[in-house]
Amino acid sequence: MTELRRVAVIGAGTMGAGIAQVSAMAGWDTRLTDADESALPSARERIERNLNGAVERGKLDTAARDATLGRLSLSPSLAAACDGANLVIEAVVEDTGIKQEVLTRAARAADQEALFATNTSALSVKVIAERLPRPERFLGLHFFNPVHIMKLVEIVVHPGTAAATQEEALEIVQALGKEPVVVQDSPGFASSRLGLVLGLEAMRMVEQGVASTADIDKAMELGYKHPMGPLRLTDLVGLDVRLSIAEYLHESLGGTQFEPPAILRRLVAEGKLGKKTGHGFYDWTTQ
Ligand code: NAD
Repeated sequence: MTELRRVAVIGAGTMGAGIAQVSAMAGWDTRLTDADESALPSARERIERNLNGAVERGKLDTAARDATLGRLSLSPSLAAACDGANLVIEAVVEDTGIKQEVLTRAARAADQEALFATNTSALSVKVIAERLPRPERFLGLHFFNPVHIMKLVEIVVHPGTAAATQEEALEIVQALGKEPVVVQDSPGFASSRLGLVLGLEAMRMVEQGVASTADIDKAMELGYKHPMGPLRLTDLVGLDVRLSIAEYLHESLGGTQFEPPAILRRLVAEGKLGKKTGHGFYDWTTQ
C-alpha cells in the first residue's frame, strides 16, 4: 500500500467529522473540508469532545489526544484540503450529482495515484464512478454512525474498481481499526438491504397487533442477541431516512419486503421522525 500521509475528507457533517477523527487517530495527516464554513468549527468541537471523553474514560492519554488533534486541519477550500492527498473520502449530502462534482474537483488537486471513496449509504457507486477521471481508483467506504465507535465498514466495489484498489481499501479499513466486508455495488449494499427487511417487518407486526413495540424489540434483543431492537433502531436512524431508503430499494429491487408499511408513512407525515423529533415508535420526551 502507498504510505498514507495525507487524507482529505470532504463534508464535515456527522459522518465526515467522524471519518476525519479516525483517520487522524490512525496517524494520518488529515484535512477536513466543507462548502459551509460554519460546519468546520463545530466538527472540530465534536472531535475534541469525543477525544476528551476517551481521555476521561482512560482509553486515550493526553499526549495521544494532542497528537491526533495536531494531525487534523480544517479548511474551507476543497482544493487546499485535497492538494497532494493520496486518499480522498467524500461524505457530502446524499446526492449523486454533488458527489460527482466534489470528487471531480478533488481529483484535480489530489495525488495522481490517489484512492477515492464515497461514504454513500445507498446510492450506486457505479453511477457515481461514471463521471470520475479514474473510476478504477474509486469505490465505496461505507462507515457507520458514530464512526469512532462502530466497527463495520462496507467496501463497495463497482465493476470498474481495480483489484489493487480493493486490496488497498482493505488495508486502509484495517489500519483504521475497523472490520471490512466487501460488497458488490447493488442497492442497499449488504447492511441496509438486510437491516431494512427486519425493520419493515417489525413495523408490519406493530400494525397487525402481533405484540407491543417494546416486546417486538425485546424479542430480537434477548432472543437473537441484537444489541438494539429494529424499532428502537429505526427511531435512532430517523423514520424519514428509513422511508426514503425503503422507497429506493422497493423501486430498484422490487419485492413486497421493501414496500413501506402504512404506519411508517403515517408517522413520517405526522412529523414523528424518531428520537430527533421526540416521537417515533417510542416517546423520547420521557426517556
Ligand atoms: P450531514 O448533513 O451531517 O453532512 C453533510 C455535509 O456535507 C454538510 O456539512 C454540508 O455542508 C456538506 N456539503 C454539502 N455539499 C457540499 C459540497 N458541495 N462540498 C463540500 N461539502 C458539502 O450528512 P451525514 O449524515 O454526515 O451524511 C453524509 C454522507 O454519509 C451521506 O452520503 C449519507 O448518506 C452517508 N451516511 C450517513 C450516515 C448517517 O448515519 N448519518 C451513515 C452512513 C452513511
